[in-house]
Parts: sequence; structure tokens; C-alpha cells
Amino acid sequence: MTADTSVASDVHGSLYSDALTRLERAAALVDVHSEVLTRLREPVSITQVSIPVRMDDGGLRLFTGYRVRHDDTLGPGKGGIRYHPDVSLDEVKALALWMTFKCAAVGIPFGGAKGGVTVDPKTLSPLELERLSRGFVQRLADVIGPETDVPAPDVYTNARVMGWMMDEYSRIVRHRTPDVITGKPLSLGGSLGRDEATGRGAYYCLKQLERLRGWEPSSIRVAVQGFGNAGQHVAQLLHADGYKVVAVSDSKGGIFFPDGLEIPALIEAKNARRGLHDVYCDCSVCECADCMKHQTTPITNAELLQLEVDVLIPAAIENQITEVNADGVRANVVVEVANGPVSSQADEVLMENDVLVVPDILANAGGVVVSYFEWAQNRAGYRWTLSEVRERLRQTMDSAFASIYGRWERGATPDMRTAAYAHALERLGQAFEDQGTARFFSAHDGTGAV
Ligand code: GLU
Repeated sequence: MTADTSVASDVHGSLYSDALTRLERAAALVDVHSEVLTRLREPVSITQVSIPVRMDDGGLRLFTGYRVRHDDTLGPGKGGIRYHPDVSLDEVKALALWMTFKCAAVGIPFGGAKGGVTVDPKTLSPLELERLSRGFVQRLADVIGPETDVPAPDVYTNARVMGWMMDEYSRIVRHRTPDVITGKPLSLGGSLGRDEATGRGAYYCLKQLERLRGWEPSSIRVAVQGFGNAGQHVAQLLHADGYKVVAVSDSKGGIFFPDGLEIPALIEAKNARRGLHDVYCDCSVCECADCMKHQTTPITNAELLQLEVDVLIPAAIENQITEVNADGVRANVVVEVANGPVSSQADEVLMENDVLVVPDILANAGGVVVSYFEWAQNRAGYRWTLSEVRERLRQTMDSAFASIYGRWERGATPDMRTAAYAHALERLGQAFEDQGTARFFSAHDGTGAV
């Protein structure tokens, strides 16, 4: 079966310039000193490494990896590590900038960072994958750390990979450091509720919309593009509440059933056949169609995005809705569970068509929020219960949602994305201001009389 990933890959510009466009749009609406923008336009540091890996056939392959710390004013850098053939420095820079804004938008004490290795991990054996993961940490050991930069899972990395990475870092520094990485297995200091956190955070946003818009779940049709960790959890939670999840897809394509798919059966079938010893799932939702009680219709990712549904949840990768296909989006609400699934040109089209976009830096922040809880538990040497994690996640998401939705509803910004950026920018701006901008120094004469 061939891959059916991007619907608009030919229109990719620079993701980082696109991210800056969003930043500038928000900055025009917020009272922050121009120095704040000057600093946020460039990442704090960029690390590029080559990782030699001994392959199972005895040969050597060199992989390229990146770690970008975009900003650490509000706390240590925070952000995932992805393994994907399309990983590039431009992409990692954009993802790191989004992490700065995500952490600030939900009010957790972290800056933004991101990492990635350009690799198709599905072509590696489990041992090759372990060597690559440990090799990447050997190269990054000087730039990551519990108080400097704390990685986590992202696209095609998971708890097992985080466990290897934490173990490797601990060997290098010669003591146990569970707080260097989040999203670890529970046995190695992971937090309860971290695996479901991204999907659950998006679900809490949708519950707020349900309340605000008076939705009756059984009459709301949902389509989910991307059926990895986050896509599965949000689909499952919505299904359990009676929402009709009519379509889901993954990189190989999707399935559609107008009365609502049996999500638990689909998740079970997809995950039953895993490759690479639990690291990657080889089975596509398209191949799981036979486990459904009803006849489903195969659809492509491009078709899924244009379905007549109420809520569209892009939960795969960036640049899925661009100026090429944005006009064809029929959903009233788009909830960005992926990072950057809508381009900045598409934002304008969706706005004109009255499509409400709940932006990624809010909608998918549940993952990093529970990463923060994991880090805090590791540092305190104390464990929270699952209900404590869920309750604190709900409070964090609800409070960020209320501030951002409220700002947009008051008409202060044209869309919720700009409201989220503005909200984050005010927090960042205050911190920069408290460190001292030209505004402060020009008001004082340099004699020390402050
Ligand atoms: N990769 C996730 C994200 O993009 C989680 C990051 C983290 O937990 O640090 O938000």
C-alpha cells in the first residue's frame, strides 16, 4: 500500500517564515516592546549533529539530527524529538518557536525547543533504532539537561525511545536523571496520563465548545486525520461521549462511515498488529476496515479534509490545509491536534469562510502540560494519581481556553490563533520587560539609581 500523506506538499514554503508571520500578526495587536520581537525572531541556539549508527548488516550509516532551543526566558527549553524523513532545520526551528508560544499560552514554566532526526524509523530494526536514539543523546548531551532543555516524544518517537534516551543521558552524567526527558515509560519515571494527554487536552477544548455552542454530541460529526497517539485518544474520548466520529485516516489513507465508526474496535485492530516490537504500528486503518460491523468507504486524506462534518481534527503533520484546499473545508470547527496543520494563507481563507480554528498551540498543549507534571513529579520524587493529573490538566486547559476564546470573542483579534499568540506574547513580553528593555534603560540614567 502506498503512502497518502500530504495533500499539498508541493506548496510548502519555509515553515519558519510562516511561523514568523503568525508572530508578527499577533505582535501588531499587543503592546510589547519591539525588542521582544527582535529576540523572538531568532532561536537562542541551533545544534546540528551527525550520528553514526552501526547497522545490523555491519555497515555504518550517518544520520543528521537537530536540536533548536528557540527561547528559554520562561524556563528550560521544552519540546519533542521527531524521527521523520522530512525533518529539516527549517521545520525544527518552526516547531521550536511553536513550543515557546505553546508553553507561554498555557502558562507553564518552560521555554520552547524541538529536535529531530532525518530518518524513516520504520525502515530500522529495533536495535538500530535503539543505537540511533542513544547516539543522538551522546551528541546532544551538552545542550540538554533537566534545567536547560528537556526533550519529549513527537512524531514517530514514543515512551520506549524516551526511556532509551533518558538511560543514555543518565549513563553520561553518571547518575539517574529521570527529569531530563518526559514521556518516559511509567517504570522509568513516566507520569500517569502522559500517553493520553495530547488527545485529552484537545478533548477538553472541544468540551468547552460543546458548552458554549450548546452542542448535542450525538448530532456532531467528526473527522480525524491522523490516527497516531493523539488522534486515537481524542477520537476515543469523543466516541465515548456519543460524538459521531465518521472518518479517520493515517498515512496510508482513511475510512468513512456516515453513522459513526466503532472507534474502540478500530484502535484495538490497528494496535494489535505492531511492528518493531511495539515501537511502530504497521497496520493502517484502511486494513482494519474488516473489523467494523458496517461496510465502510475507503477515502484518501485529501477527501477526509473536505468531508461535510461539523468538526475536523487534523492530527497528523504540518501543512495539510493550505491555500490550495482551504476553501474546500466544510467543517465549522477545525481543532489542530497536529503542529502546524494549517498554513498562514489558509488561515485567511478559513476566517473568511467563518471556520473557527482552535489553534495548535492551545489544542495540542495537553501533551506538554502533562510533560510539565511529569518533570515536576520527577524533581519532587513524588507521584501523582491519574485523577490528579487529569484534573490539573483540565484546569490548565480550561483556563487557557477561556482566556484565548474570550479575547477572540471580544473582537480583540480576528481569529483564535492570533488570540493565542497575543496571550502568549503578553506573558513573554512581561518577562522580557522585567529583564529590562530599552524602555527601562532609557528611563534610568545609568548611575545605578533604579
Ligand atoms: N511533542 C509534543 C508537542 O509538540 C510534546 C512536547 C513535550 O511534551 O515537551 O507539544
